[in-house]
Amino acid sequence: MSLEKNLNLVKESISQASIQSSRHQEVTLIAVTKTVSSDVVKEAIQLGLSHFAENRSEKLIEKQEALEDYHTFTWHLIGTLQTRKVKDVINRIDYFHALDRIKTAQEIQKRATKTINCFVQVNVSGEISKQGISLDEVEPFIRDLAQFSAINVVGLMTMAPNGEEPEKIKEYFGKLALKQQEIANLTMKHAPCTELSMGMSKDYPLAISQGATFIRVGSQLFD
Ligand SMILES: *Cc1c(COP(=O)(O)O)cnc(C)c1O
Repeated sequence: MSLEKNLNLVKESISQASIQSSRHQEVTLIAVTKTVSSDVVKEAIQLGLSHFAENRSEKLIEKQEALEDYHTFTWHLIGTLQTRKVKDVINRIDYFHALDRIKTAQEIQKRATKTINCFVQVNVSGEISKQGISLDEVEPFIRDLAQFSAINVVGLMTMAPNGEEPEKIKEYFGKLALKQQEIANLTMKHAPCTELSMGMSKDYPLAISQGATFIRVGSQLFD
């Protein structure tokens, strides 16, 4: 199928899920371009997409270099960032979705020349293969981040486990949303925590139903 048709289908399900959601939130569609070439990114730009994500820093830099006007778009790094790679990429991105270690935060503080919008990645299900801290660790971890002036905690991010029942996935997204509200209610200066990055191709309607404000969609757009 063409990207244009895929995009229209995704937009349609976003608006349906938004109508049914309890929060009536704005949802930002992030196109995850990790499996496609820069030419496909250009096509996506033609179709009006403006938020792009990669899970590896090298790939993100490669995509940006292929676009003369990359500054006019919003760039998200959604995968784990190794400490030694922070300096190459941190000032090129608008959002980092996978903050889960103080060591990474220290390196960001050292290398950033602007405030970096970060999502704290949470492993809600406790699945062993997933990155992220547990729900119980979220508040102490975010309090600890107050020492880093370069870090602005915009929200929480999670990935649902593969192959789980929709009811279960909905429950995980709902738990993340509760935690996000809990943190937002603390009104910490470095952690407004108003956003929820959750939902991928298979589960973004469920994520929207639970309050997602950023969804990260790859295969449903580009396959
Ligand atoms: C690849 C990836 C996505 C997109 O996954 P799809 O199933 O292709 O939509 C979203 N989030 C992260 C962190 C990813 O690595």
